[in-house]
Amino acid sequence: MPTYEYFCENCGKFEEFHSMTATLTNCPKCGGEVRRLISRNNNVIFKGSGFHITDYRSSDYSKKAAAESENGSTKAASASSKSENKAS
Ligand SMILES: [Zn+2]
Repeated sequence: MPTYEYFCENCGKFEEFHSMTATLTNCPKCGGEVRRLISRNNNVIFKGSGFHITDYRSSDYSKKAAAESENGSTKAASASSKSENKAS
């Protein structure tokens, strides 16, 4: 489950675990109104797995892409993107 950061007027900043669809509107400690803060965890979710995969193998992938462009061939590149879609 993702972690969300909230700010309570009385308790200050705190983290809360809950599902993506749920939203915390009141502080679990004092019951006061809270507002959600942008967290790093949210960024990961919004970017999606595609970005993560690209980052993970970026050095190897860019080497292959460079070699393919030198040969003037894009066949391998399109095949690679197809398998990515299948995986996700
Ligand atoms: Zn509070």
